[in-house]
Amino acid sequence: MTRPTTLSDSFGRVMRDLRVSLTDRCNFRCLYCLPETEEAANFYRTKFDPQRNPNPPTLRLPDWKPRSEILSFEEIERLVRLAVNLGIQKIRLTGGEPLLRQGVEILVGKLARIPGLKDLAMTTNGFLFIRKAEALKAAGLQRISFSLDSLDRDNFKKITGRDGLSEVLTGIDRAQELGLNPVKVNAVIIRGINDHEMEGLAELARKRNLSFRFIEFMPLDSGRAWLKDLVVPGREILRRLQAKFALHPVPCAHASETARRWAFEDGRGEIGIIAPVTEPFCGHCNRLRLTADGKIRTCLFSLHEHDVKGLLRSGASDEEIAKILRGIVWQKEERHHIGEPDFVQPERSMSCIGG
Ligand code: SAM
Ligand code: SF4
Repeated sequence: MTRPTTLSDSFGRVMRDLRVSLTDRCNFRCLYCLPETEEAANFYRTKFDPQRNPNPPTLRLPDWKPRSEILSFEEIERLVRLAVNLGIQKIRLTGGEPLLRQGVEILVGKLARIPGLKDLAMTTNGFLFIRKAEALKAAGLQRISFSLDSLDRDNFKKITGRDGLSEVLTGIDRAQELGLNPVKVNAVIIRGINDHEMEGLAELARKRNLSFRFIEFMPLDSGRAWLKDLVVPGREILRRLQAKFALHPVPCAHASETARRWAFEDGRGEIGIIAPVTEPFCGHCNRLRLTADGKIRTCLFSLHEHDVKGLLRSGASDEEIAKILRGIVWQKEERHHIGEPDFVQPERSMSCIGG
């Protein structure tokens, strides 16, 4: 029998995209991810409905993993090399905040040299980007996505817990100057928080020639305070933006693309709408995640994680690890169950899973 050379699941999906979390820690406290501030607590308190939910949200931060439990660069490199041999084409470094990981550019350099890897990207909140920009580009980073949920300094601070709007905007400019193309920007839209800013954010995309992604709020916050009423459905986002801009659909490049994309009339910049809650795209999912502490997650909403750190640290051979990886992927969940009575929010928040 010939050995399968890809990571395929029992539903016929072939994995091409691995998201690697470099740390579970973060220098922001986004209210949809790691809510901690008094303002975030007050916001959720006003939305809390005891009729529908017996448990009031408690804004509890996760316990940070000790350094010894976090994968080293050598361990990450080995796993990525194995994954690329098994058909992974794209690596996205994420977190927590990946730029908090000391020497991140050294890891980027190691990964960029792996033969067969086609795309090396990073998702960051951008606060520290300016300090690392040149080193990351020189090391071989190809693309970058920033998170930016507001253009209003006070609202930015309310959402992220940090007065950092100007640092992020400067980082975005720098990434464009360096030719990290296309520079993507993600905004999680939350009703009553930043839904009034959608048009302004889209205008920024047009003016600065950015690929802007509007994302539905998912139940992955550490406070477990997510409510369906806070989700602005993708269709509503589109309706609002179409009322202001002439938008032309951009054909999908790959079936696995998560965003429905639209171009502006003058051809500068584009917007994409990612609606995992109201229009799930699980049927074409080709993504896997590796957490900072060395667990493979086959779905954002997985209730089980598969430890690979133990394998790496107990002397398993590449062949053995590859075989185990294939077995893990075979069990990938068919879809998520958000909004269904049997939905259970994963134990760990987006910051620990690696968005
Ligand atoms: N710290 C980096 C950042 O914020 O870009 C990378 C990690 S963050 C977990 C990755 C992405 O997940 C960000 O674009 C963020 O907006 C998104 N995210 C976090 N929590 C989310 C949630 N509850 N629903 C939807 N997206 C979320
Ligand atoms: Fe940190 Fe990113 Fe989560 Fe915000 S979304 S708290 S920046 S990990």
